Amino acid sequence: MSDKILIVEDEVRIVRTLRLYLEQAGFAVTAVHTGSEAIPAFRQERPSLVLLDLNLPGQDGLDVCRSLRRLGDVPIIMLTARTEEMDRLIGLELGADDYISKPFSPREVVARVRAVLRRTQGQLTTHQTLQAGVLQIDLAAYRAWAAGRLLDLTQTEFELLATLMRHKGHVMSRAQLLEAVQGIAFEELERAIDQHIKNVRRKLKEAVGDVAIITTIYGVGYRLDEVELPHA
Ligand code: CA
Repeated sequence: MSDKILIVEDEVRIVRTLRLYLEQAGFAVTAVHTGSEAIPAFRQERPSLVLLDLNLPGQDGLDVCRSLRRLGDVPIIMLTARTEEMDRLIGLELGADDYISKPFSPREVVARVRAVLRRTQGQLTTHQTLQAGVLQIDLAAYRAWAAGRLLDLTQTEFELLATLMRHKGHVMSRAQLLEAVQGIAFEELERAIDQHIKNVRRKLKEAVGDVAIITTIYGVGYRLDEVELPHA
């Protein structure tokens, strides 16, 4: 299956050229022309990599980069005509994986896309399991254990637990959890998160007893803490 690349770039000519070269290289390409279209397109297309122009009309590339980072760890290559070192630094802190200065050769872009995908996909395979205290998750196998006991979770419950584990020790709001589970934050659906969390807790309790692994932070959301069981 070919990797999908999302291009966020307002210059139609550049999009056309990049699309041509990337498609020739075997990638599937989706493009949007404004920053505000980027996140909806990301949610819909679930690309393997985002080529993100820094200077966009509306929401600019830095904002888009920040929003993408909140949603996960998709590789991002920034395209920039602003060559000031400052911008590069800010972008790096935001978690972009690489930079390409304009004007660029499309062949160079294809080479960088390949390089970043190789690097990041290599990392993914070594980080397929998450560990937090008694909890363990295998993301590839979609299985979760508490103290070695396999948990019987629905897909939503699994995603919730995985998301809390990825951010262990940090408070996750219901909106963030909902975003992680469904890709879209509907305020009216936040209540549903409470029910799913309740189910996850019940199943954890069945497995390891009444241990406070997931704490409710009143008015905010939930936090998963690393809990070890005392050795018998
Ligand atoms: Ca631009």
